[in-house]
Amino acid sequence: IVSVENLYVAYGSQDVVKGVSLRVSQGEKIVIMGPSGSGKSTFLRSLIWLVKPREGRVVIDGLEVGPGTLREVRMRVGFVFQHYNLFPHLKVIQNIALPLVKIHNVPPQEALVRAREALRLVGLEDKADAYPLQLSGGQQQRVAIARALAKNPRVLMLDEPTSALDPELVEEVLQVLEDIARRGTTMLIVTHEVDFALDVADRVVFFEGGKIVEEGPVDILYNPKTERFRQFLKRLH
Ligand code: ATP
Ligand code: MG
Repeated sequence: IVSVENLYVAYGSQDVVKGVSLRVSQGEKIVIMGPSGSGKSTFLRSLIWLVKPREGRVVIDGLEVGPGTLREVRMRVGFVFQHYNLFPHLKVIQNIALPLVKIHNVPPQEALVRAREALRLVGLEDKADAYPLQLSGGQQQRVAIARALAKNPRVLMLDEPTSALDPELVEEVLQVLEDIARRGTTMLIVTHEVDFALDVADRVVFFEGGKIVEEGPVDILYNPKTERFRQFLKRLH
C-alpha cells in the first residue's frame, strides 16, 4: 500500500534522507527506529510532501505522490506528530470534526458522528466538550490520534507519539495504538518503545545517517545483524 523508491530529501544542499526504499503491505505495521538526527521524521514527512523529496518516487494507496495527487494522498493518510498540535481554542470534538468538514467536505452532522466514534476508539468520549489544555498530555495525544483516525485513513503515520509524554502517560497511548493496530490499520510508527514494537510491529526498520541500515521482522530486536543496531538497542535499556 506504500511504496518508496530511492528517496532523497535535502535541507538546502544537505541530504538527510539518502536513497531510502521501502515497501509496506496493506495492514502491515512498521516500526522505525534510529538515533536522533538520522532522518526518521524527515523521511516520514517527505512521504506526503510535508518536506518535498529531492529525488525518488512514493506511491500511496495506488497514487503516485506529486502535485496533482497531493490533496487526495493527504486525505488518505493520518498523521500524528510528537507534539499533538491541537487547536487550543477549539473543543476536543471540534478539533476532530472541523478538519473533516473543512478538508474532507464531510457534512457537519456526519463529521460530529465520526468524531464521537473516533473519541470512543481512544477512550475519550467523555472529553468531547473539554478544551485541549484541560486534558493531560496523554489525553491530548489520544485526541490527536482520534483526529487522524476520524479520516478513516488508509495509512496511519505516527512520529514518536509518546516521546513528549511523562512516563506514566506513555502506557495509555501505547495501549490505544495497540488497539488500533489490531483493527488492521496499516501503520508506520517512529518509536523507541521496544516492548510496543515487539507486540505490534510486523517489521522493524533501523535508520542511521539517512539510510536504512537494517530491517527485518521483530526478531531483529533480539538479534540485530549489524553492530550499529546492536549498539543502538543496548543504549535504550
Ligand atoms: P529525532 O530522533 O531527534 O527526532 P530524526 O531522526 O527524526 O531525529 P530529523 O528530524 O529527520 O531526524 O532530522 C534529520 C536531519 O535534518 C538533522 O540533522 C536535522 O538537524 C536536519 N533537519 C531537520 N529538520 C530540518 C529543517 N527544517 N531545516 C534544516 N535542517 C533540518
Ligand atoms: Mg524525529
